[in-house]
Amino acid sequence: MIIVGLTGGIGSGKTTVAKEFNLLGIPVYIADEEAKKLMNRSKIIKRKLIQLFGEKAYINEELNRPYLANIIFNDKSYLEKMNAIVHPKVAKHFQKWVQKQDAPYVIKEVAILFENGGDKACDFIITVVADKALRIKRLLKRDDTTKEKIEAIMKNQWSDEQKINKSDFVINNNTFETTKLQVLRVHNDILQKAGIT
Ligand code: ATP
Repeated sequence: MIIVGLTGGIGSGKTTVAKEFNLLGIPVYIADEEAKKLMNRSKIIKRKLIQLFGEKAYINEELNRPYLANIIFNDKSYLEKMNAIVHPKVAKHFQKWVQKQDAPYVIKEVAILFENGGDKACDFIITVVADKALRIKRLLKRDDTTKEKIEAIMKNQWSDEQKINKSDFVINNNTFETTKLQVLRVHNDILQKAGIT
C-alpha cells in the first residue's frame, strides 16, 4: 500500500485537506486522533502512563490532559517519554488499519511528521501551508486559545520552508476553492507517479 504523509503547521488546514482527499475515495488516518483514542482504550498504554505520570494521569478512565500538559510544560523530557510509550502502539494500529483498506493509496495525517522522523515511513509527503496570520485567525475562531499560545506552538514546529524542502507536494490552503483544485491535482499526480493511471 502506498502511504502518503500529510503534514503542516498548526492550523494550516491538514484536516480540511484530508477531508477533500477522503471525498475522492482515499482513506484517511488521523494519527493524533487515533493516539488520543488509544490513550483512553489501551490497557498497556494506560498502565505505562500511570507509571510515568502517577495515578492522576487518568480521571474516571479518561486521560487527564491538563494534568499531563502541565507536567510536560515544566519538563519537556516527559513528552519524549510519553511518545516512546504511545508512538509504537499507534504505528502498530496504523499498520493493521492499512491492511484493511482497499484503495490506490492511503493518507496518514500527522502534525509532527518530520520532527519525529515519521517521513521515512511514507512514500510521498504533502505539506499544507497557509499564511501565518490566517492560521492564527482561524485557530482563534476554532479553539479556546490565545495568539501567544499558538505562536509558542508554531515556534516548536519546523518552519514551512524546512517542510517544503522535504515534501513531494505542497498545498497552499489560503482559500478553500484553490485548495480543492490543488487536492485534485495532487491526487492525479500521486496516481500517475504510482503507475495507477
Ligand atoms: P491542527 O494543527 O490544530 O490539527 P489543522 O492543520 O488540521 O489544525 P484544520 O483544523 O483543518 O487545520 O483548520 C483549522 C481551522 O481553519 C478550522 O476551523 C477550519 O475549518 C479552518 N479552515 C481550514 N482551511 C480553511 C479555508 N481554506 N478557508 C477557511 N477556513 C479554513
